[in-house]
Parts: sequence; structure tokens; C-alpha cells
Amino acid sequence: MADMVDMVDMVEMKAVKTASRGIAIAPAYIYREIDLTPDNYPVAEGAALQEEAQFQEVKQAVLAELEQLSQDNPIFAAHMAIADDYTLQEGVIGRIKSGKKNVQQAIFETVEEVAEIFGQMEDEYMRERKADVLDIGKRLLIKCKKISVQDLAAISEPVIIVARDLFPSDTVKMNPEFVKGIITEEGGVTSHVSIMAKNYGIPALTGVSGILSKLEDGNTICMDAGSGDIVIAPKQGVLEGYQKRLQADLKEQEEIKKYRSMEAVTPAGKRISLCINVGNTEEIKLALDKNIDGVGLFRTEFLYMENTHFPTEEEQFAVYKEAASLCPKEVTIRTLDIGGDKSLPYYEFEPEENPFLGWRAIRISLDMPDLFRTQLRAILRASAFGHIRIMFPMMISVEELQKAKEMVEKCKEELRQEGIAFDDGVETGMMMETPASVLLAEEFAKEADFFSIGTNDLTQYILAVDRGNKKIASRYDSFHPAVIKAVASIIEAGHKHNRKVGMCGELAGDVHAVPKLLALGLDEFSMSAGNVDYVRKAIIG
Ligand code: PEP
Ligand code: MG
Repeated sequence: MADMVDMVDMVEMKAVKTASRGIAIAPAYIYREIDLTPDNYPVAEGAALQEEAQFQEVKQAVLAELEQLSQDNPIFAAHMAIADDYTLQEGVIGRIKSGKKNVQQAIFETVEEVAEIFGQMEDEYMRERKADVLDIGKRLLIKCKKISVQDLAAISEPVIIVARDLFPSDTVKMNPEFVKGIITEEGGVTSHVSIMAKNYGIPALTGVSGILSKLEDGNTICMDAGSGDIVIAPKQGVLEGYQKRLQADLKEQEEIKKYRSMEAVTPAGKRISLCINVGNTEEIKLALDKNIDGVGLFRTEFLYMENTHFPTEEEQFAVYKEAASLCPKEVTIRTLDIGGDKSLPYYEFEPEENPFLGWRAIRISLDMPDLFRTQLRAILRASAFGHIRIMFPMMISVEELQKAKEMVEKCKEELRQEGIAFDDGVETGMMMETPASVLLAEEFAKEADFFSIGTNDLTQYILAVDRGNKKIASRYDSFHPAVIKAVASIIEAGHKHNRKVGMCGELAGDVHAVPKLLALGLDEFSMSAGNVDYVRKAIIG
């Protein structure tokens, strides 16, 4: 690492909760949000030509950029065609000439209008082009406003990313090799940036209010995410102290690896299934050397979020099949859990007062049967290549589960008719993450083949504490007696009906929770890969 020289005074801060443990020392990389609101300057009499010329200039620059991108990804060739389209051109120039709009306003309004036209189209393929139009509009405005955009994918030196917040669409671009740590002002311990950080073993602290006003790009940061300590521009002695802590931490990680070859068997002799939570197959590959029993939660929404369109059956099938082949013992695929804090770049969700209580997860799948069917067919087809289980999120009624299972049966029948192979015995289970599912656990246990407890949502819904709100982060507590009581009653109800009960919420990866969860009889622990070694050691005792 290059020598870090800080021209500012040392600042110490403390985070309330750990998002992902570990120690990091690296220069700060401030990730700034961009504001694409068009500037509101008036166009003077006779200046329209200048605005028009600016449009042509930025359009050419965007076309050149897209041509470059299209060499690696053909989707950008389609973007070029849209950027060069007559409708866009006429809309912008017409607004500049007759509407006395400046170029930024003209682009903004035209793009909104064209995107809306695409959004209303009958044909699904054409409807999906709306996101492409919006993306082109963004590129044009970035150039007009001369904003330099930060590309997280381009980070090629060790850094600690500091941001107001990071969304899944940002984090998917990061190269975990160079991201040594993450600090955000917003977000809680179960926000998706925390989960992603844990998956990659990146130390992370969320909800660190005011840090952005205390540092500049390149300032040295030392962070101990376990204790919540952050030091900006450390004095030499402090820096050396952190370097020692970092070495000790790396040594502990090496020590703990010795447990990897051992089976996760409790002192009482119960074999526990130790699984990982993933959002893509790369994460499975990274964890294969951890002696895992499989994937206890495949969050399929990332497949949808990293796309420019709803992934097709073939696209999804390829991913699920790869997952099944990588983990032949078990891959639990959760159907789409979008909504809440997870949006799609190509689909406009109506704004909601309470997104976490809104249109998300199974509610969307049941309301959009074509979308659901595409996913289920892809999962079923992949089930011929390994041991796949299907899991439904956010259940609140047995009727919902029955409807979801009916859809599975319908898809099976279609595949049978088409002569396509699948595992007819594929299990269908559910996340236990709503208060309703806890209260109806016995009824659900008669219908579901297995349970997996989602303590991230269960905690927020039982305690009425938003999992992403930093102001109440200290109240978000998965060890709260009400949450533990709910966990106990789910396990009891599941076992009464001979169902295996797992947990894939963050509590399953917390070593402090292991003794309690074992005492309650939990059968499977599924967690971010970074926690597997520690939890295995805690299970063995
Ligand atoms: C949960 O709610 O505990 C869970 C595992 O699901 P997610 O974090 O994806 O909402
Ligand atoms: Mg959940």
C-alpha cells in the first residue's frame, strides 16, 4: 500500500452497530450521488442555435461512448440505435426551438415522454426498452451538466468506500478485491449493503452519521468494524496500533480455517446443516472451499436487478442450473423478493408510503403470474441438475402458499407436456419472516415442506423497527425476547409436523446466537459466507 499522508487533524468516530466485522486500513474513496435535475437557465433570444449545437455535441459523445461499450456487450448497440433515433432528436430540437427550453430541460422532457410511450406498449420487449431510453437520457444529461461520474467498477487500488448510502445497483459493480472496507451514513445492519459486505468478508459500518463532512478523498481511514471504531487521518502511533490489530485479525482468520475440515456436529451429536446465502453463482464459487452443505438462500432478485430487462426463462435457467451443479447437496432458491428497498432499473414501481409494508416479494409474484411462471419454470428445469428447493418469501396466509404451490404444479404440468426434465419431488418451503407466519406456523407447517426463518424482516416486523433506519438502529435487535420467542415457536411448530427448520436471516451468522439457536433445535444455519468458519467453530463448541 502506498504511504498515506494526511494534511488534516485526526478524527475519531464510533458506529453503533457492526454491519460486517473486520479491520481495514486504506484511503477513503468518497462515492458521491449525482443530481441530474436539469439546470433552469433561460435561453436568450437567438441562443437556441447554441443549445441545439450542444445537444448534437453531447449526442455524438454519447454515441461514441456506447460504441465503445457495445464491443463487450451487444445491448449497447441497441442503445446506440435509440440514442440516434429520429423521435428523440426531433423532440429535443423542437422543444429548444419552439418551447424556449434549454438543452437540459429539452432532453429531460423528451426522454420522459419517449420513455412513457415505450412504457405503455403492449409488447413486453418494447415495454422493456423504457429503461434503455431512461439510461440514454441519463448519459446525455451527465454530459450536458459536465458531471464526472464515479465508476465503482473502475476501482483498482485498495480503498474504503464512504457514501451516504449504497444501493444494490451500486454494490453489484464493486470489485471486492480492492474494496477493503465500507462506511455509509445511512442503512442498518441488515440493509443490503451490509449483507453484500458480509458475503464478501468486507468490513462494513452503516449508519455513521456525518462522516462525509469529516473527511476528504484519499484521507487515511482505520476501521475496526467489530468495535465500531473509525479513525480518520490517524496519528502515527494510532496507525501502528491498527496495523497490529489487522495482523492479529488476519491471524485469527487463518486459525479458524482449521475447523473447515470438520463436520458441523454439536457436542450432543446433532449434525447441523451449514449453508450460505448468495445473490449470484460467483459467491458460491468463492465459498466452495468452506466445506458448506449448500445454499440455504439464493436471493434471486439480484439476477433481476443486475439486468436491463426481466431475465428470460433461459437466462434464469442457466444461472440456477449452474448453482445446482456447484452445490449438489442443496440449493434453496427463493422466488423474487423485489420491492421494499430493492427496485429494478427497467420497471417503475408506484411510490409507496411504506415500501416494506407494500407491494413486495410473493405479492408481486402472485399479481404478475407471467413473471412468476417464467421464474418457476426456470427453477424447475434446473432441478433436474441437482437438489433444488423452492422457497417463497413474505408469506402471510396459507392461501398464498397454496396459490404459489398451484403455480408450481401448473408449471410442472407444462414441462411434462413439453417433455422437459425436472425433479418431480422438488420441495416447496417458505420464509418465516412475517408476524402472521409465526402465528400461523402450525397451519403453514401442514402445507410447507420446510421453513427458513428470516430474522431480518421478522425483527423489523415484530418490533416495528425499520431495518434500514439508522436513527432507530440501536432498537433493531434480533436478540429481543419477542423475536426469540417467535423463533422458538416456529421451530416447535415445524418439528411437530416433521419439517426441517432453518434460518437464513443474519442472526444465523452471529456466533453469539449459536448456543441459543441450537438449544431451540434449529436444523440449518444459512449465512453470509464470511461467517461460516466462525459459526462452525461455535457449533462444534
Ligand atoms: C430475512 O428477512 O431475514 C431474509 C433473509 O431476507 P432478506 O434479508 O433478503 O429480506
Ligand atoms: Mg426478508
